Amino acid sequence: MDKLTTWVNVPADSDFSIYNLPFGIFSTSDLSPRAGIAIGNKIVDLAGLARVKILPIDPAILEQNTLNDFISLGKATTSAVRAVVQRLLCNDDALRQNYPQLLVDMADATMHLPVQVGDYTDFYSSIEHATNIGTMFRGVDNALMPNWKHIPVGYHGRASSIIPSGVDIHRPKGQVMPKDATAPVFQASGRVDFELETAFIVGKDTTLGENISTKNAEDYIFGMVLFNDWSARDIQKWEYVPLGPFLGKSFASSISPWIVTLEALEHFRVAGPVQEPAVLPYLEYSGNKNYDIALEVSIQPKDAEEKVVSRSNFKYMYWNMAQQLAHHTINGCNMKIGDMMGSGTISGKDESSYGSMLELSWAGTKPLTMADGSTRVFLKDYDTVIMRGHAEKDGIRVGFGEVRSQVLPAL
Ligand code: CA
Repeated sequence: MDKLTTWVNVPADSDFSIYNLPFGIFSTSDLSPRAGIAIGNKIVDLAGLARVKILPIDPAILEQNTLNDFISLGKATTSAVRAVVQRLLCNDDALRQNYPQLLVDMADATMHLPVQVGDYTDFYSSIEHATNIGTMFRGVDNALMPNWKHIPVGYHGRASSIIPSGVDIHRPKGQVMPKDATAPVFQASGRVDFELETAFIVGKDTTLGENISTKNAEDYIFGMVLFNDWSARDIQKWEYVPLGPFLGKSFASSISPWIVTLEALEHFRVAGPVQEPAVLPYLEYSGNKNYDIALEVSIQPKDAEEKVVSRSNFKYMYWNMAQQLAHHTINGCNMKIGDMMGSGTISGKDESSYGSMLELSWAGTKPLTMADGSTRVFLKDYDTVIMRGHAEKDGIRVGFGEVRSQVLPAL
């Protein structure tokens, strides 16, 4: 990869290096919501660049509160915009000398949901996670269901409750069946949990009946975000048979606000796990379809320091994004720009890398100790959950920033 040097002061540990340049929607006290690109601790105002005609795009497309219309211009255009901004931030003086006001301090900006999510699907594609959950509920000999190595298992989630980092949630209430009880009770969930995931944003429509092949699936992926799939384990346990997750999941799902493009992640491709038994032909793929992205989760109790409770990696995923898209469309289901696909909880091979409290505390039997000495088996009120992720190789760092949200008491 060519070495790039930017005139913007980018801290060495910044996720938003000159090689990254993710897209998001931001606003400030002076600027209405609009498209931006992150660089270090700054945001490039893309709408402003279009207004002064440095970007050959109708500014109205960039002065919106979602990126959907921008994404619909197609990857050739969105990639070209990213390339222009990269040039402006390196060895072109047009922005630096003539329009310094188009570089906004991140500290002055509010980040918004980057896209309007039409439909949201969550997969279950980490073999370590599926094995852990299956072991807890069915025993080690029946941990994986018979379909698991043949199908990227998923369910349709709720798009309306997807929220950006920084928006707090309330502990949900619902029906739970207490242990040894004979009838369910209505109460605030006592088992609120996070799930460490990534999600990808669909960048190209398909028509009803059309299939996406694993060969060109990446043409349909605009980029990725971090994703916290909040879960209420007690509500989920009582409701999930036979149709799967419902109110135990739909109360909120948090995403990081910057969409990291697959181009930015290209340098970090790695091979995925060997899939045995062989998958059906429509799920076969070639090349490196996984990405080496280090992920971590911290819990910060009220008035205490945060503590990292999990370190995992996206490279562990058994089913890759291309297979997920191929499977999702093999029945003719159409994709829409802005649709979001969750990876499923990303657990690694040992208990320091498990992606949920359910696994870390092994169904509530092994408490975790926080920085202030208090213990957790599930989340308590006023706990803040922070997820971070980045790829790093050859001195090049490309990251997601963070997704952060606090659990407030039930309403
Ligand atoms: Ca999930």
